[in-house]
Amino acid sequence: MQMILCRAAPKAMASFPRSRKGSELCVWPGMGQLCLRKNLLYGFMRLFSMPFKTLRSVSRTLGGVSRYCSITNMSSSLQIELVPCLQDNYAYLLHDVDTGTVGVVDPSEAVPIIDALNRKNWNLNYILNTHHHYDHTGGNMDLKERYGAKVIGSGLDKERIPGIDIVLNDGDKWMFASHEVHVMATPGHTRGHISFYFPGSKSIFSGDTLFSLSCGKLFKELPSRDAFFLRKITSLPDDTNIYCGHEYTLSNSKFALSIELGNEELKSYATHVAHLRNKGLPTIPTSLQKEKLCNPFLRTSSTEIRQSLKIPESADDAEALGAIRRAKDNF
Ligand SMILES: [Zn+2]
Repeated sequence: MQMILCRAAPKAMASFPRSRKGSELCVWPGMGQLCLRKNLLYGFMRLFSMPFKTLRSVSRTLGGVSRYCSITNMSSSLQIELVPCLQDNYAYLLHDVDTGTVGVVDPSEAVPIIDALNRKNWNLNYILNTHHHYDHTGGNMDLKERYGAKVIGSGLDKERIPGIDIVLNDGDKWMFASHEVHVMATPGHTRGHISFYFPGSKSIFSGDTLFSLSCGKLFKELPSRDAFFLRKITSLPDDTNIYCGHEYTLSNSKFALSIELGNEELKSYATHVAHLRNKGLPTIPTSLQKEKLCNPFLRTSSTEIRQSLKIPESADDAEALGAIRRAKDNF
């Protein structure tokens, strides 16, 4: 079981008086809202105990998402904290409760990460990069210099990831404290893109490979050997939590609905997503099960999608995926 607690960041303070029931602070995605009054109180106490400089710097960096979210898997000692960066990026703090080991996945910029670490009074041991793009590695050097953290990334990106110390490749296993991490090559968005899968926590950090209701832009027409990069992810258990690099779900839902309006699960999820975004809440993590039911890029065999985009029945999954991607790029 997983519990997600979201707390308004300073920029969203104007919304606090409306959240008397505390319901805007806590959410179980897909399971309705959970109200915890004590968390509301805790949120206020923590907020007003933060140094003014911290408030200012956090406020500067927040775009569309105005909540920090702590995600605790009740059956694991790994805590995950979602940190909004830039306009719509997410970085994720990883915290091993037993040893105090802390990592960050894809720090777009340093300031919101430093603020989140300060709030928790945590150090930073590792920086994990899914790929080399600046909006995933922009904070590497400042964080490395400040905390002495080790930078981890793909061997294929070792010339392009700032400050890289530890090179990992497809199939490698690496330990984050006592948590086994499986490195999965997931090329497509970039050639060297990797995803980090934590089987013990049923969680994958998918960077820009797979988003909720979409996938990352492809760097070129996919070579056939890479055409099924998404299958590596879809072969994981259905209850895997997917932590992706951007909050794009609402706009993705509009494209998905445009080509599969008869998908009742998608319609219901799109309504839920709009509700969350109206409240400034993140739609991430999503689950693999949800994506299989709703994400057009995982539904290449859908008759309705194929008819909508005039994809011939004879087209294989890779061709259908390419056609869906082209349609999305022009949407
Ligand atoms: Zn990218």
